[in-house]
Amino acid sequence: MTNPKGRFGVHGGQYIPETLMNAVNELDEAYEYYKKDPGFNRELTKLLREYAGRPSRLYYASKMTEDLGGAGIYLKREDLNHTGAHKINNVLGQALLAKKMGKTRLIAETGAGQHGVAAATAAALMGMECVIFMGEEDTVRQALNVYRMKLLGARVVPVRTGTATLKDAVSEAMREWTSRISDTHYCLGSVMGPHPFPAMVRDFQAVISKEIREQILEERGKLPDAVIACVGGGSNAIGSFYHFLKDEEVKLIGCEAAGRGADTFETAAAIAAGRPGIFHGMKSYFCQDRYGQIAPVRSVSAGLDYPGIGPEHAYLHDTGRAQYVPVTDEEAVSAFEYLAKTEGIIAAIESAHAVAHAVKLAPAMNRDQIIVVTISGRGDKDCAAVARYRGEDIHE
Ligand SMILES: *Cc1c(COP(=O)(O)O)cnc(C)c1O
Repeated sequence: MTNPKGRFGVHGGQYIPETLMNAVNELDEAYEYYKKDPGFNRELTKLLREYAGRPSRLYYASKMTEDLGGAGIYLKREDLNHTGAHKINNVLGQALLAKKMGKTRLIAETGAGQHGVAAATAAALMGMECVIFMGEEDTVRQALNVYRMKLLGARVVPVRTGTATLKDAVSEAMREWTSRISDTHYCLGSVMGPHPFPAMVRDFQAVISKEIREQILEERGKLPDAVIACVGGGSNAIGSFYHFLKDEEVKLIGCEAAGRGADTFETAAAIAAGRPGIFHGMKSYFCQDRYGQIAPVRSVSAGLDYPGIGPEHAYLHDTGRAQYVPVTDEEAVSAFEYLAKTEGIIAAIESAHAVAHAVKLAPAMNRDQIIVVTISGRGDKDCAAVARYRGEDIHE
């Protein structure tokens, strides 16, 4: 789907300063080599199985299905992976690649801290030094994850520039990579940034749809009618979509965080509320102000609080192969509560955005139709925030 320059239609590319070109080219060449290397793939498969706990279950949500009275609903349980989310699939791939490239140091950006914890986990496993860049604002809001990263042996660097949040942490990590490419790999957390990151991270996450396909064919003998996943940068979504891209009859639906609403200024819905632009090394859709500056974004879900969307999603939107829908904070919180009560599963508030759309869609479908919803992570981390949203302070 990518052409040699890392384009997805008009999106993607490598919009980076000259000084970053060496690092990006070196990574591109190494990835092109190792993705076809049987030894590399064997090692990665082994790590995914024995360390991360793959394959993750495809669970038939019978109570939810019965309650909604339409399509059969299956949950792809990425929340059951080691570290509690899909992010481990990507960091294991990148850390292994970095090691093959002779790098001894991993750096990463993090917003809510989930990718930072995953990267620190992979670094600990591989015996690599690890430095995590995190907006100072976020280090205060996510103190528990800062502690986790330190426990895993990482150093956390608070970033004070800009709004001192995720986008500033990405910029700082790119700067650091530029000045230290000899021993350092930048382990980017989603399907974004300059080529080869969007294609590489997608390939590492594509294990999700590879398994869904095998599991649903085994259980039902046919493909799903719809696959639904939440979209921040878009890695769990593209991972869930990838092996269905050529099956036009399978609807692919990405759920963006609309925050207070895609028609308000308090949103993070890059497709519903954004415009094409160039940022963090890629062309894609971004939330922008009237002067074309990156707009501050807001969502109840820290993991979806990014002003852009990966370039492959931008392309799938342009071509109509995938559909992107905004889901509000209120809808996501209600779905978070609904899934806990009906199935006994506390999903991440990010994943609850996908659940919310399934709740809307299923009743209008037939009983012999199938929806697969990716549960990108577990929701223990979100309980205090959801309680606060409902006006209850549980003193976390
Ligand atoms: C980080 C995160 C996301 C958002 O990232 P994507 O790259 O869009 O997948 C979604 N869900 C969970 C649980 C996360 O930790």
